[in-house]
Amino acid sequence: MAEKILTGIKPTGQLTLGNYIGVLKHLHKEVERGDCYYFIADLHALTLPIDPEVLRQNSIDLACFYLAAGLDPKKVTLFLQSSVSAHAELNAIMQNYLYMGELSRMTQFKDKSSKMKESAIGLGLFAYPVLMACDIVLYDASAIPVGEDQIQHVELTRDLVNRFNNRYGDILVMPKAEVRKVGARIMSLSDPTVKMSKSDPKGDIFLKDDLKTIRKKIMSAVTDSGCEVKFDQENKPGISNLLTIYAALKDISIEEAEKEFEGYRYGDFKKAVADVVCAEMEIFQNKYREILETKAYEEALREGAKRAQAIANQTLKRVKNAVGLLDIE
Ligand code: ATP
Ligand code: MG
Repeated sequence: MAEKILTGIKPTGQLTLGNYIGVLKHLHKEVERGDCYYFIADLHALTLPIDPEVLRQNSIDLACFYLAAGLDPKKVTLFLQSSVSAHAELNAIMQNYLYMGELSRMTQFKDKSSKMKESAIGLGLFAYPVLMACDIVLYDASAIPVGEDQIQHVELTRDLVNRFNNRYGDILVMPKAEVRKVGARIMSLSDPTVKMSKSDPKGDIFLKDDLKTIRKKIMSAVTDSGCEVKFDQENKPGISNLLTIYAALKDISIEEAEKEFEGYRYGDFKKAVADVVCAEMEIFQNKYREILETKAYEEALREGAKRAQAIANQTLKRVKNAVGLLDIE
């Protein structure tokens, strides 16, 4: 059986360079090793307050971004999570196999809820990892390319699969998170001790920023005392982050990047990073604009939904049968 590769991105805000380097940039290569399922996690986007029109626009943008990143919708299954009802149905079953204690230990929940009034924290934010586990197991996915922050959720999915299969037999496929060696956690340019995040946009580079803005943001990125361009996350988090961005985009190791910048001053180093980011973004943004204009994403999402539904419904049936829900078709 071909390997199944799956990943999703939430349409919660404008995509950042972190999303691009951490996952998006590399997704087109995965078709060489198996069947790819890539989705717009729009149900997950509802876990924090969001304006309906913004959600719609973000979802369209995200579809265009996936395609601009070089995905061929005939070769990968690209779809909206909400257009495959099996996600929500499986969620109703699986919420009984993950427990309050383990969900309350999730770092993402702690981070996001700590910024909110307790009376405003929705159940969906707490239960997010249950739905994410369903997203994964529905497609029998074994490889989950994600940024570092999602490892904990994939680990929880693994616990669920173990628990479920121990009880009911070999029903679900065991997934594994796959993170990039370089670029699994791009940090904010204004505070390199926190992750670049689209729902917390201080210090982000957005994929839709014009090139002048991108250059300006990089040139004014927080750097560290000293003057050597060296990778040292503890003492030089700002420089290390810029080195990571450079190495990830050039597809070289951190050591190779360090060598290139031996003897450079911070200003010249930043200029070189800005050149590389702008060169890549220029090509990417041109593709994005073309896809947005021709609305090529509409057909891709329609076809993707059909293919995704067919696979997801099979898994749902298998699970319903395993837990004892009557099938009277
Ligand atoms: P949000 O603030 O809404 O959670 P986000 O930027 O974290 O937004 P997600 O939709 O949660 O984006 O994540 C999409 C993918 O991008 C995930 O695989 C995630 O691990 C990855 N990712 C997110 N931020 C970064 C980052 N700073 N560096 C590398 N990968 C990232
Ligand atoms: Mg996130």
